[in-house]
Amino acid sequence: MSEFDYRDGILHAEGVAIPEIAAAVGTPFYCYSSAALTRRYLEFTGAFDGQDVMVCYSVKANSNLAVIRTLAALGSGADVVSEGELRRALAAGIPPERIVFSGVGKTRGELAFALDRGIYRINVESEPELAVIGELAAGRRVEIGIRVNPDVDAKTHEKISTGRAENKFGIDIGRARDIFARARALPGIRPVSVAVHIGSQLTDLAPMRTAFTNVAELVQALRADGNTIDSIDLGGGLGIRYDGETPPAAGAYAAMVMETAGNLGCRLIFEPGRSLVGNSGILVTSVIYEKTGEARRFVIVDAAMNDLIRPALYEAYHRVDPVMQPAPDAALSPADIVGPICETGDTFARGRDLPAVRPDDLLAFASAGAYGAVMASTYNTRLLVPEVLVNGNAFAVVRRRPGYDELLKLDSLAEWQQSV
Ligand SMILES: *Cc1c(COP(=O)(O)O)cnc(C)c1O
Repeated sequence: MSEFDYRDGILHAEGVAIPEIAAAVGTPFYCYSSAALTRRYLEFTGAFDGQDVMVCYSVKANSNLAVIRTLAALGSGADVVSEGELRRALAAGIPPERIVFSGVGKTRGELAFALDRGIYRINVESEPELAVIGELAAGRRVEIGIRVNPDVDAKTHEKISTGRAENKFGIDIGRARDIFARARALPGIRPVSVAVHIGSQLTDLAPMRTAFTNVAELVQALRADGNTIDSIDLGGGLGIRYDGETPPAAGAYAAMVMETAGNLGCRLIFEPGRSLVGNSGILVTSVIYEKTGEARRFVIVDAAMNDLIRPALYEAYHRVDPVMQPAPDAALSPADIVGPICETGDTFARGRDLPAVRPDDLLAFASAGAYGAVMASTYNTRLLVPEVLVNGNAFAVVRRRPGYDELLKLDSLAEWQQSV
């Protein structure tokens, strides 16, 4: 089942025809489905029905306020990795007591901001960070988590693997007991949870099973040391289908979690990102030109790597769907789908079977809801890509396309250049 599907030969997001949005907003644009977000959130939480679970949506996957609000309205908390994301989560209506703060390089200013807002949990990733929180905690009572690095290979793309000893994240699991003892000795600090997140786009449960088993053992050891551990934060990382992958369903994931960590009497915290939003969004683009070179057929579109960098950054696959459904007998031929940016890396897809296209034809990149708009830039002085949220038969622009004036106004000339 998909909220993005053809109706009468035209790609729709729920009840709204994509060409209708394109006519109103222009291209390129991201389009998200409220129903898809809702369905995935409820699938995830439903899999843990009856358990003491807190789901903190990982805001970095898609931090549009309207997306966060959609999940907040369902009861979601937030996992944030910067002061900016924390401000977004609060602005979208997520209460501080449902917010966790992760990240290897939280600054003193960011930590102070988070403590002042009284968020639920800061997951500490190093001893120097612990020392700073210790200073800031003077006169307060701060409950923290310690993020451990379990040295498990998540078997995912190298750039989104985070749980191996050589990765920058967390504190080596072998040193965790020592760090908990130090944390406990700091006035104002109470280390009450263990956090782990081994990577993203995991399509196999085995690495998570190993990591969670190790975390459960650690919790027992920490308790034997006299720590009060009331919760464990198992991170995010559940993969989605881009190109025929078979990621575990929420039910299978939940069963594995309950087997490995369900009998600790701990509250379970989760930080899903991609699995909630990835397949809840698409990127819609228009064909500018088609050109047939000596060796290849190029379809040049008005979206570019600055709008969706995943193919360039991770060799990621995004399915390409013509918005007008091709006739069943349409002749297809392989095409490279490329953006206008002056880099060879500005290639979305190679050798995809596409029907004949003409300028202004609309194409949609599937599975673009996660790590899409949030990674957009203005490279080549292109305007930040707008975002649209659909809900049933309605749609709303939830991030407008800025103007060139706004973009240029961010720069200024040095004082000694003014007279020229
Ligand atoms: C990125 C991140 C997540 C979310 O990962 P997904 O793969 O998108 O689910 C969760 N927790 C932490 C600490 C992260 O850095």
